[in-house]
Amino acid sequence: MKILLTGGLGYIGSHTAVQALKDNYEVIIVDNLSNSKEEVVNKIRQITGKDVKFYKIDVCDKQKLELVFDENPDIFAVIHFAGFKAVGESVEKPLMYYQNNLISTINLLELMKKNGIVNFIFSSSATVYAPSKIMPLEESFPLEASNPYGRTKLFNEFILKDFQSANPEFNITLLRYFNPIGADDSGIIGEDPNGIPNNLMPYICKVAIGEFDHLDIFGNDYNTKDGTGVRDYIHVVDLATGHIKALKQIESNKNNGLKIYNLGTGKGYSVLDIVNTFNKVNGDLVKYEFTQRRAGDIDIYYASPKKAEKELGFKTEKTLEEMCKSSYNYVIKNK
Ligand code: NAD
Ligand code: UDP
Repeated sequence: MKILLTGGLGYIGSHTAVQALKDNYEVIIVDNLSNSKEEVVNKIRQITGKDVKFYKIDVCDKQKLELVFDENPDIFAVIHFAGFKAVGESVEKPLMYYQNNLISTINLLELMKKNGIVNFIFSSSATVYAPSKIMPLEESFPLEASNPYGRTKLFNEFILKDFQSANPEFNITLLRYFNPIGADDSGIIGEDPNGIPNNLMPYICKVAIGEFDHLDIFGNDYNTKDGTGVRDYIHVVDLATGHIKALKQIESNKNNGLKIYNLGTGKGYSVLDIVNTFNKVNGDLVKYEFTQRRAGDIDIYYASPKKAEKELGFKTEKTLEEMCKSSYNYVIKNK
């Protein structure tokens, strides 16, 4: 069964490509390398011992994208990872975010419809949930976005819902990811952000390898057990497996329609939990200082993974220790 992964050389896409190849799917990747490196193609081959077809194409370039569909008329499903994801940058350059994150989806849907390919899985995010006093977050909770990046995810969800209503033959699954960290056990692929990382784990890793002196913890006066922010961290390999489960659901149930699932563990860990666990499993490598809260951050959120468990048979397997160990293993092997 052939699947097309847009953004398949990025952090989550590459791990999903590996899981899909291990599960005997044929994988085609389209990526414009705006936030990844071509060498990841060979790394995916190295880990799996299997071939993968790669097109260096911008998903927003509809003419070039059409060639991929022309050459591969037997694609079963598209998993759409391609997109920009930096919240701060989206505030500075909103049009760049709307352009890339929305046009890419519209192009894909138009070409899929033209070519009779009806199965689509979308990388959405927990960022689409409105602030909530009630935890865990369930798929039916109110939605709201507080920055242009979040709005691109929310608008994509609306576009996909409208499109699916108008085209009921389409099976569309929206996967709302919580905070992916960790890396493949091989240490060959992992998270490789350009420049100074915005996210917690990549920053911790840079401190651990001595690129930065210490971690700034943004706020220790939140209403949480230790005052630092609480999130639902999910191992990227578990997250990748969630995509395979969503594919299997579509395969086994021809009239799937539109489905929405959280992909998280259902557990909340604080920033201090993460730093302490990282130091416990990797040696005492990360010093920290408390600084001011980061604008826009909230104190606590985590997923209810019940719907994904019940309907997809999705259950995370990896521990926080494994997340911290594999993140560090990747950076030391690739520094
Ligand atoms: P990433 O930046 O590592 O991967 C995205 C990939 O898409 C990159 O390889 C990039 O080169 C490619 N790309 C971007 N625009 C493209 C275009 N127009 N045409 C072709 N390729 C393009 O990001 P990631 O962390 O792997 O995230 C994948 C998806 O999951 C994104 O849509 C992101 O918004 C979403 N998501 C990520 C997180 C997270 O914390 N990492 C959380 C929730 C949702
Ligand atoms: N965080 C931090 N220092 C950093 C980066 C992040 O203290 O250098 C905190 C942030 O305030 C939040 C948590 O770590 O409580 C996760 O942040 P991240 O940016 O990784 O993900 P978010 O949940 O904000 O998307």
